[in-house]
Amino acid sequence: TARLRAGLKRTREQLSGRLAGVFGAHAAVDEALYEELEAVLLTSDVGVAATAHLLDALRQRARKQKLTQPAELKEALQEALLALLCPLAQPLDVSSHRPFIIMLVGVNGAGKTTSIGKLAHYYQRQGRSVLLAAGDTFRAAAREQLEAWGARNHVTVVAQSGGDPAAVIFDAVNAAKARGVDVVLADTAGRLTTQLHLMEELKKVKRVIAKAQPEAPHEVLLVLDANIGQNALAQVKAFDDALGITGLILTKLDGTAKGGVVAAIARERPVPLRFVGVGEGIDDLRPFDAREFVQALFD
Ligand code: GDP
Repeated sequence: TARLRAGLKRTREQLSGRLAGVFGAHAAVDEALYEELEAVLLTSDVGVAATAHLLDALRQRARKQKLTQPAELKEALQEALLALLCPLAQPLDVSSHRPFIIMLVGVNGAGKTTSIGKLAHYYQRQGRSVLLAAGDTFRAAAREQLEAWGARNHVTVVAQSGGDPAAVIFDAVNAAKARGVDVVLADTAGRLTTQLHLMEELKKVKRVIAKAQPEAPHEVLLVLDANIGQNALAQVKAFDDALGITGLILTKLDGTAKGGVVAAIARERPVPLRFVGVGEGIDDLRPFDAREFVQALFD
């Protein structure tokens, strides 16, 4: 929790500092307070739809419970935000299949490779065996980064220089089956310039995984950089429409004040937020906990 709190420092300073200003500046709950609150939420990347939703919830509650004190409204906001984010908190259960196959997608620079390293560490610490598939055959650096990570942590990396991403991942799934591996983490390409082509490539990878292992991939995780704020929502929609994603990783929350985008995602495209990245260290990837998250934003 201390780590998450530290990681969310910038979002908290932005949001909580300004909220304190709003709630502190008014002697009573009035229209001006609601308007200022709306402005703070909108500029914290909460987004139009989630902001409207939160304000509606607050107004209703204030009316019903006859709230007159700004401090009471602040508490109500915290609760409304928690209610909004709770459905996103669905931890990933990898014990349902063996191998459990996770396909990771996302644009270059989002933090995919780093997150794969952190996830491998996370599952190894739970006593599970892990195998990595270097499915970004487009960038040699991506493969090398994954191989370096695998060597350091004694994790097998199935790779091939150049070649077909789907073929690499197909081989990886078969290797995992043969060795009784628990979790397969499959990296994929994320080049932005030819996005249509990218989506077709990712769809093919998904189909080929299903050929190697029926019902797989068991999870299609979209990795998102929190720094892009409202654009994160556009990426969730684009990848979900094209590919059908089952979970999200939101990275680099530590470097941004745009953590409010989680609320926008919750309101407009509630794909489970499996993990949040709050630093570059190997342990800085944590399962998303809505209560912990809201607390870290307000306290
Ligand atoms: P990829 O292109 O999607 O594979 O992205 P990388 O995994 O190479 O990550 C891009 C950069 O973001 C690297 O410098 C990572 O160290 C950094 N990064 C990834 N996740 C986090 C995070 O949660 N916090 C911070 N501060 N940096 C991160």
